[in-house]
Amino acid sequence: MNRDDAFHDPAPDLARNLALVRRRIAAAALRSGRAPEAVRFVLVTKTVSADRIRQAIAAGATDLGENKVQEGLAKAQDLADTRARWSMIGHLQSNKARDVLRFASEVQPLDRLSLAKRLENRLQQLGQPLDVLVQVNTSGEASKYGLTPSAVPGFLKELAAFDALRPRGFMTLATFTPDEAEVRRCFRLLRMIRDRALEDAPQGAALADLSMGMSGDYEWAIEEGATIIRVGQAVFGPRPLPDSHYWPGAAGTR
Ligand SMILES: *Cc1c(COP(=O)(O)O)cnc(C)c1O
Repeated sequence: MNRDDAFHDPAPDLARNLALVRRRIAAAALRSGRAPEAVRFVLVTKTVSADRIRQAIAAGATDLGENKVQEGLAKAQDLADTRARWSMIGHLQSNKARDVLRFASEVQPLDRLSLAKRLENRLQQLGQPLDVLVQVNTSGEASKYGLTPSAVPGFLKELAAFDALRPRGFMTLATFTPDEAEVRRCFRLLRMIRDRALEDAPQGAALADLSMGMSGDYEWAIEEGATIIRVGQAVFGPRPLPDSHYWPGAAGTR
């Protein structure tokens, strides 16, 4: 039975939270001089059960993000009868390159050449392309994954040799702090890196995407130019474990 249909009532709390986030996205987009549709909303489903994700899909959220390969693969299989589309948003070990391609149609945190090579080899075998974003460490925290800003131009040049990888832009995690100025500094830095890449890189205009902003800061991110936000807890409620469980070095939630 396909439960993802018009007869299935989404859970009222999920529908309400989704509507609220969408309204805030639209308002922030307008404040940044853009149309609400200019911002893509990836609903982050890590730790959320397949049944609850199914309710979110019924409420119209089909652009989903997972940060662990095994969890994403299992849920994508459970939800194969829906219109869900999956993005990998978490740090990816090179030995998971094969499995990530079994469920994700996009890999956001591309942060090293060895991973690009693994993905490219597998994609060549499959005969398919993959959208990727380049992860940049904008916070300067040693614990965060991502290229240093100064390494980005060289990395983009090397990526041009990989036919199956389609770089669409950049992603970052801001510093974990309630300090709005510091968080915005990270977002602005990613935007500057993007603007420079648009001028220099062989990939040109294809590099426009900026994936930045989560539950605590997505409105700031949109005001600073985000084209993709990754939001989970604002829709599903707080996760049982602190962020330090999901990100190395994270000092808890903001
Ligand atoms: C979990 C996660 C998010 C979303 O965080 P929320 O606090 O649930 O909005 C965004 N990006 C990445 C990489 C994540 O792992």
